[in-house]
Amino acid sequence: MTDGSSKFAPERAASSTRCHRSLCPITRRALVLRNRLRAICARDLSFPVLATLLVLVTALVPQLPLRDAVTHGDVSGMSLVISRQFAILSPFCALLDMQALLTIPQHIAVLVTLLVGFVCWRVVHFTRRTTYPVWRREASGLLAIVLLAPALILVVNALMPRPMARLVLDDPDVLAIDVHAHTASSHDARPDWTATRVRDWHRASGFDVAYITDHKRFGGAIDAVALNPRRAGDDVVLLSGLEMRNAGQHVNVLSMTQAESTHVVNGDHLVKGMRLADGRAPIIVQTIPFDFRWFAGRHQDSLARTTAIEINDGAPRGLTTGLRRHAEILALADSLNLALVAGSDNHGWGNTASGWTLVRVAGWRELSPAALAVRIEQVMAGGRNSTQVVERRTPLLMTVPQLAMTVPFALVATARGLTPPERVSWVVWCWSTLLVRVGVRRAASLALARARLARTRRRQRIRIVPIGAAAGLQR
Ligand SMILES: [Zn+2]
Repeated sequence: MTDGSSKFAPERAASSTRCHRSLCPITRRALVLRNRLRAICARDLSFPVLATLLVLVTALVPQLPLRDAVTHGDVSGMSLVISRQFAILSPFCALLDMQALLTIPQHIAVLVTLLVGFVCWRVVHFTRRTTYPVWRREASGLLAIVLLAPALILVVNALMPRPMARLVLDDPDVLAIDVHAHTASSHDARPDWTATRVRDWHRASGFDVAYITDHKRFGGAIDAVALNPRRAGDDVVLLSGLEMRNAGQHVNVLSMTQAESTHVVNGDHLVKGMRLADGRAPIIVQTIPFDFRWFAGRHQDSLARTTAIEINDGAPRGLTTGLRRHAEILALADSLNLALVAGSDNHGWGNTASGWTLVRVAGWRELSPAALAVRIEQVMAGGRNSTQVVERRTPLLMTVPQLAMTVPFALVATARGLTPPERVSWVVWCWSTLLVRVGVRRAASLALARARLARTRRRQRIRIVPIGAAAGLQR
């Protein structure tokens, strides 16, 4: 497809070249450079310019990419640390992190924004030109941009290994805990999600302790506990647990091992008044999402007592419930004196930790893993104010008008959390795309010009042959 102006481009270029020949070499080069810059149209510049503005403006109002999960306010005494590789790949890693932390309605909002953006772009495109849309091509473009590209990014985000952001705590007596992690022993986990990989994932995210809470199985927890360090401070400690049902709701029983399997009835239901092998009442964590009527219902007395509740769960449904029913979860925790906790609910997909449960245990690094588990659970038994939960900062958008702003809010939140090296990386990557686009377009136009020249020469040869043959016949 060519527009009207391009027909006269060769004549313009020829006259320009004739003018340039009469100038001194430096002026000639400057004019060539100016013409090349003019060839880079506003469409090419818009993306790097806007991205650079976003990076520079948000540098004036930076914020820690962490917040308190209860108040959604700022936190102190901790930071989110990234590696050099993360900084270099920051436009990808930071945006993939943000994508992994969106709620389900926010994912839908991103798709709707892409759909509306695509339609607006094509309408503007065709109103500026005299050509008409080829509907099959438009439909394939729509499919690629609105459905296939986001789906591909989601798959890459879930499967591809990449650098992770790590929580670092200033206070050596505070430790970061995950109360909800899975291994390949869970039926819905990644098949190659071994205990070693789980430990690597938690180390890369800044966790000190994680409970392996597989569904109905202890194989992953047994493997994980066998590889624990002797001293808790030497590596990530993985502890045993089980995800099961308590009156139809999914709960995690911390420190439960195969020895207490007798407390499981009807497949994966928890019996009332269960005790761990050492006689302690276990910490029973209510995961999210769950049926909120259960807590307010009259069945509470017949169930094993829940002592903690997730306010942050890293699975998409958990993130959705954690945001949408934040006030109700807090009200439950306040009224029933439940400890607030965070669970990654990681089944082996993705590289982003959404929240950390912080607990203070003086001198925990010197303890054995078993002794540390007892101390952690003693603290959590203290109820509502025994823990602090910190989470990654995400857009707090729930209503339909708010959700319409998901894309800009997510971009601004991501950009405000960038470190200075990441900002440099973003600018370099954005302007690199300009060079690539210009280079590709230049290569394409050269290839087109060569093809046209070759076709013209072929036509000239075809014309010459019959005339020569005709001349020979005349002789
Ligand atoms: Zn789970």
